[in-house]
This record gives sequence, structure tokens and C-alpha cells, in this order.
Amino acid sequence: MADLRNRFTHIFFDADDTLWENEQFFRDAEAQFADLLSDWSAPEGLQRLLWQKQEENIPLFGYGSKTYLIGMTDAAMELCGGTLPEKVYLGIKKIITELTYHEFRLIDGVEKTLQALHGKFELVVATKGDVTEQMAKYRKSGLDRYFHHAEVMENKDEKNYLELAAKHNLAPEQILMVGNSVKSDIVPVINIGGYAINTPHDVIWVHEMMDMPESDRITIVKRIDDIPKILL
Ligand SMILES: [Mg+2]
Repeated sequence: MADLRNRFTHIFFDADDTLWENEQFFRDAEAQFADLLSDWSAPEGLQRLLWQKQEENIPLFGYGSKTYLIGMTDAAMELCGGTLPEKVYLGIKKIITELTYHEFRLIDGVEKTLQALHGKFELVVATKGDVTEQMAKYRKSGLDRYFHHAEVMENKDEKNYLELAAKHNLAPEQILMVGNSVKSDIVPVINIGGYAINTPHDVIWVHEMMDMPESDRITIVKRIDDIPKILL
């Protein structure tokens, strides 16, 4: 594992499930969706169909809860035989509204981690998803006092990280990305020559599942507040 001290000027932080809880709220919404459709389908078949519809819609409409509204509607339409009962549509809309305006919960240790790093590094949020939703969560978090900047990236692949580096006048090897997702926060950053710290979260979206690559530029921590002691 590489020594990360005195190497970076900037630290980029993923937001969902790195700074604040997110995925659990989607799991809860899926459980409510399964309840709503219980007269038409068993939960397991329903889950698979919903994921399939999500994968179809993400390239068209991006990430975020509005895409879930479309995915749930598509799945329900198929299960209900091509016509969507009013009660099902209104039920889906209610689930998505509650998902969009769910209670906001910071992950333990985030605030003291950012306090320790603030002033010593340029801290940047690098998240993906729906711009309106992500910025609303960022404002609600109160964390903007620690960050110089927040980026809502259209995706998190190699090209997007190269653009992010260029935007901040950094060479790719000067990127240090902190995040929970191996697929979005670790693999593409390592592929362009950057460094990554993985803060694992116990709820992982199927869409984000990937094996951890082998690289001495990856550091895995148990909790986010382990980070200051490896950087300072
Ligand atoms: Mg994340």
C-alpha cells in the first residue's frame, strides 16, 4: 500500500453512501413496491424485473429517483398485463415521493473527518446522479462549509475522471478519490493512474457490484474517520 502523505493537494469524495446514507432508502422503496404488487408477483421475480427495467432506463434517463419512477412503472405495467391500475400508479408515485424527500442521514464520522482535512486539502464532492437531487442533498447536508466545490458527474468512468482532473489542473496521478463503490469510485480512478480510498458500505446496489482490483494505489479503510491518520 502506497504512503499517501504529502502527495495530494485535492481530495475528491463520492457522496451517496460515502458521506450520507442513500442505498438503504432505495432498498426500502423496493420493499414497498413489492408490497404494492404482491397480488401480481412474488417479491423475487419482481426484484429481478425491476432491476432489468432500471438497467434499460439508466442509459436513457440517468441516475436518480425519477428514473426509478419510470422503472417501477414499466415493471408494474408488465406485471399487471399491459394496463396500470390507478391504485398501483399512485402507490408508485407515493413511494418515489417519499424516496426523494426521505430523512437525511450523514454517515458516522463524516463531519469529524472533513473537519480534520479542511484547510489542509482542497476538498471536492464528486458524485453522479440527478443534478437537482444531488445538489439538494448537498445543501441539506450542511457539509458545504468544508468543500470548495461539488461536481455532479454525468457518469463515473475513466473519461469523466480525466475531465475532472483536467478541470482542477491536476494530472491523473494527482487524483485521490474516496468512495464506497468499487465500480464507480475505485476502478476507473486506478485505470487512469490515480489513487483511491475505499470506504465500504454494507448496502451495495447490484448495478455497482464489481470485484476489487489489485493495486497498491488502493487503500481500504473500515470507517471514513480512519482517513485523516493516513493522510496527515
Ligand atoms: Mg456511493
